[in-house]
Order: sequence, then C-alpha cells, then structure tokens
Amino acid sequence: MSFNIAIDGPAGAGKSTIAKKIAAELSFIYVDTGAMYRAMGLLFLRKGIDSKDAAAIEAAAREADVTIGYENGEQQVYLNGENVTASLRTEEAGNMASATSIYPGVRRQLTALQKELAARQNVVMDGRDIGTAVLPDAQLKIYLTASSHVRAVRRYEELKAKGVDSDLSVIEADIIARDQRDMTREISPLCKAADAVEVDSSELTIDEVVETVRKLYQERTGASV
Ligand code: C5P
Repeated sequence: MSFNIAIDGPAGAGKSTIAKKIAAELSFIYVDTGAMYRAMGLLFLRKGIDSKDAAAIEAAAREADVTIGYENGEQQVYLNGENVTASLRTEEAGNMASATSIYPGVRRQLTALQKELAARQNVVMDGRDIGTAVLPDAQLKIYLTASSHVRAVRRYEELKAKGVDSDLSVIEADIIARDQRDMTREISPLCKAADAVEVDSSELTIDEVVETVRKLYQERTGASV
C-alpha cells in the first residue's frame, strides 16, 4: 500500500515549497493539484469563457484532458497533450482556477486523476481538499496556514525577485478574496480535516516547517529520514 501525505491550506502558505522538500527527502512523488486547476483555468481563458457561465465551463471541462508527467523531477502539466506548465503561475490563471474550481465537472475529473496517482505510488500531494476529499485515508495530513499579510508579502517578494513590480495591497486583497471563495464554496471547500495537524508558518522558516513535518512523519512511521 502506498504512503500518502496530504498538505492543504490557503494560497501562499508555503505548501508547494514544503511539499517539494519533503517529497525529495523521502523519495516520494510530489503532486501539485493547484496546477491541474490552473490548467483548466488556462483552457477557459483561452476559450474566452466567462467563469460564471456554468454550462460552458462544464462542457469545456468534459472535453479537456489534463494529465501530469515529470521532467528532471519537476511536475509537468499537459492540457490536451500540450505542455502548459510554463503558463500556469500567472495571477490570471490562479484567479480563473479559483473561480472555476467550484464546478462539479471540473472537480470530478481532476479528483479522479489525483486519487489514481496516489493509489499507485507514495505521494506528497498539496491542494485545498486533499485531506478531506481526495485522500481521506492519507496516513499524514498537514493543514498549513499563515496570516494573509505574511502570505501577501511572500508573494510580493517572489514577484520582485522575478523583476515584476506589484502592489502589496492588491495582492493581499486578492489573497483574501481567493481564501473566501475557496473556504465557502459548496463542494469540497478548503477546511482542516479533523485528523490533520495544523501548522502556522507565519513565524517559521521553511526549514522549521520541514522539520515539523519530518518529525510527524517519523512519529507515524517510526522511520528515520
Ligand atoms: O494552489 P494554487 O494557487 O495553484 O491553486 C489555484 C486554485 O485552484 C485555488 O485557489 C483553488 O480554488 C483551486 N484548487 C482547488 N483544489 C485543490 C487545489 C487547488 O480547488 N486541490
């Protein structure tokens, strides 16, 4: 049986950074489920579909084929056979993903793919509904949070490092709106699974969060990493 680690939490809490590091240490596969929702979002953007047009979104999602693969250990996302990985990390794709992840047709397809990946191999999977809906039997569940201000500052610094000028207050407002949507949607809203361990990364370094998760893994398995 595969060992599954689920990491959920709001945008910018550091899920992917932590999940990647833990996966590398344990030689597990890292699965970024947000990237799958972003690939769907990209498709809707390209087709010029309004995120409120439920019928058009459901129809386009039915025809979409989202798959993942790995190149040099990095997850690649394919949309109808095209590698779209490089186009997924924009605010536009993130906001479209958030606005359209409320639709059952979008979630059904991506959840099925995620379950299948985790059944076959040891994974560290991050997202919003991994511990609650995708992998309810995951052996270790982490709910990673941080204040909206800390998350906005992290995003701002990330963009600055890439040479992109942005407005911190706009980023923070965007993060708060995204949290609100993710936490209040009807299907699989973002929430802490009853058996998840909550880790607040606001005052912690990346290494300290990794250390916390490593200890929890060791406690669950008795293994030394
Ligand atoms: O994590 P990331 O910012 O890439 O996710 C983009 C959006 O995809 C989220 O705001 C959320 O609405 C959606 N998502 C989701 N369920 C997941 C992962 C992401 O609904 N498991």
